[in-house]
Amino acid sequence: LSRTYDAIVVGAGIVGTACAWELARSGMRVLVVDRGPAGGGATAAGMGHLVVMDDSEAQFALTFYSRRLWHELGDALPADVEFQRCGTLWIAADEDEMAEVARKAAFARQRGVRVEALDSRAVAEAEPNLRPGMAGALRVPDDVVIYPPCAARYFLERARSHGAESMLNTPVRALRPEGGVVLADGTAIEARFGVNAGGSWSPELTPGLPVRPRKGHLIITDRYPGFARHQLVELGYLKSAHSVASDSVAFNLQPRKTGQMLLGSSRQFDALDDRVEMGMLDRMIRRAQEYVPGIADLNIIRCWTGHRAATPDKLPLIGPSLTSERIWQATGHEGLGITTCLGTARLLADTMLGRATQIDHEPYLPGRFAAGAAHDG
Ligand SMILES: Cc1cc2nc3c(=O)[nH]c(=O)nc-3n(C[C@H](O)[C@H](O)[C@H](O)COP(=O)(O)OP(=O)(O)OC[C@H]3O[C@@H](n4cnc5c(N)ncnc54)[C@H](O)[C@@H]3O)c2cc1C
Repeated sequence: LSRTYDAIVVGAGIVGTACAWELARSGMRVLVVDRGPAGGGATAAGMGHLVVMDDSEAQFALTFYSRRLWHELGDALPADVEFQRCGTLWIAADEDEMAEVARKAAFARQRGVRVEALDSRAVAEAEPNLRPGMAGALRVPDDVVIYPPCAARYFLERARSHGAESMLNTPVRALRPEGGVVLADGTAIEARFGVNAGGSWSPELTPGLPVRPRKGHLIITDRYPGFARHQLVELGYLKSAHSVASDSVAFNLQPRKTGQMLLGSSRQFDALDDRVEMGMLDRMIRRAQEYVPGIADLNIIRCWTGHRAATPDKLPLIGPSLTSERIWQATGHEGLGITTCLGTARLLADTMLGRATQIDHEPYLPGRFAAGAAHDG
């Protein structure tokens, strides 16, 4: 190992490895440290849907920018990343939800996103396994599905090709206010910057950080190629995913390149363990049957859980901490860290190196939580 670094990134999930690649590519001497493997954590648990979202202008800007960066990588990605341009279908079950299709379509078109509104017949043709009688859908053809853990491993390889080093299976005790880290065994490693890419564990490294774990369940089936052709998401998802008060479940079905169907998902605060809860699985399957009744006949082969790193305003934390210019955050990506890792990495590197950013970075600065939040202990 080199004795000192320009930046030490703690966390080799998809966000940390994307940041490491971007910093190393920019000429910095980079070290990545993780207590586990690369692409473990939420990255191994997540769904891998690269999706443009429109909850807020800032969320839209980061997801749209990041999806463009993913498309630029596209064919250069190794086969095990399973980059599939299958698109998203936002499904409207009734006329109220068709109004939401119209709103989303107008929002997207005004901002240059390709979308297509489907009526009842067109949605049935697009997805024959949907329950007959759906009101319609919004098709977003350029949304993508990938397999996230292999993407994180690829990003780490790319970072290494630019001279980055890594220490896996090595827990970090603290980020030093003067830069660098202290490992759990007491070893201090110096650097100009330390980057907290610890995902839902990031508050352990930066006490007081406004990040809370939000548990999610997933179910994967045996292989049924063609059962779904797009990533299918209910528009009711918008109502339930945004409820921060209670546990929620929404229909979200993803076709994998293997032909397997990946069914999501649930959202729970205050559920810190990774136990699979039969009650949540039951709710997810019942909800899915309301959209694709045939799902009841598919064999489930595995269920698991993961934790999203949620912030109060549903935007990630990207930039310097409040108490030390040497500690940077790249965390708090909730359910969108796979989508937004590349945009996050660009914003982090551009701001750290004093370069112009391609989208406004202010909405994601950790300093927005200054009032009342005791960052960095
Ligand atoms: C059920 C579910 C479905 C999802 N679906 C999607 C989706 O479809 N699309 C999408 O865009 N996003 C999705 N997400 C969100 C996405 O998975 C996360 O936002 C993303 O993986 C976060 O990546 P990360 O690198 O920040 O965190 P992680 O992948 O959790 O990585 C953090 C790393 O930090 C390491 N670490 C933490 N503390 C320390 C320490 N003290 N010392 C050393 N190492 C440490 C951990 O070991 C871990 O490897 C989903 C999440 C869940 C749970």
